[in-house]
Amino acid sequence: MTKFHCGRSHFYYLIFRPRLAAVEKPYRSIDFRGQLILLGSGTSVGVPAIGCACSVCKSSDPKNNRTRSGAILGLPGGNLLFDTSPDLRHQLLREGIGMVNAAVFTHEHADHLHGLDDLRLFPFLLGHPVPLYCTQLVESRIRRVFDYAFIDRGHTHPGAVPQLQIHTIVDEPFELLGARLQPIPLVHGPHCNVLGFRFGNVAYCTDTNFISDSSLALLQGLDVLILDALRFTPHPTHFCVDEALDVVSRIQPKMTFLTHLSHELDYDLTNEILPKHVRLAYDGLRIPLT
Ligand SMILES: [Zn+2]
Ligand SMILES: [Zn+2]
Ligand SMILES: [Zn+2]
Repeated sequence: MTKFHCGRSHFYYLIFRPRLAAVEKPYRSIDFRGQLILLGSGTSVGVPAIGCACSVCKSSDPKNNRTRSGAILGLPGGNLLFDTSPDLRHQLLREGIGMVNAAVFTHEHADHLHGLDDLRLFPFLLGHPVPLYCTQLVESRIRRVFDYAFIDRGHTHPGAVPQLQIHTIVDEPFELLGARLQPIPLVHGPHCNVLGFRFGNVAYCTDTNFISDSSLALLQGLDVLILDALRFTPHPTHFCVDEALDVVSRIQPKMTFLTHLSHELDYDLTNEILPKHVRLAYDGLRIPLT
């Protein structure tokens, strides 16, 4: 047993006190209302890829260092997380974000889901379980992968498992934390459907290789589009750069950031050949909401 436990420090009571109630003590979190922060801009294995000695994986440019994809929106009613990447803890610490008020999921793939256990601390700050918004398909995956969070038995101590409250969403717009979110149905290869999301004139559309005409219609008049573009060569479940540029030409957002990037795409070299209104995204990119 560590001194941390024996001493019953303030932190002990903050984190392990038996009753779940909103914490009275201050906590650290930057105020980023009115902004979207890109937490991760990398593909499912991240960049650098383990064991890879290519120039991008060996690069000292922080913009070539990409954690798994995710984002967080500073809304009037709190911080809304998009996906729980396996790098979530590191991402929130890196950006100084100490609170997640709710999370919404694009789809059920591991690189967007498997950091969900990192939400365990937030019920102590919120005073209630973390609200999750996702489709029924994503919910069923969450209940299987994180089955221990839903087992109906007494747990050894508060915070032992994530406390979650799941809300089902479909293709219809919904209100959350003082904002209106428009889901954008996206196709992600032959076996997976994804939801992109539009909030005001900003849209986040990761993990897709096809956008239907009806979804393109929901993406008209954007100031900023964040769009999947894995690499230069085609891929069965993600847009390549040329395919993403074709989508950009059809939607014509004022500015586009390409995300879910692999190690094929060097930040500076790729930006040199992209149109000026299209840039590669990077971890920590901040986008004002409009
Ligand atoms: Zn992904
Ligand atoms: Zn590499
Ligand atoms: Zn995916």
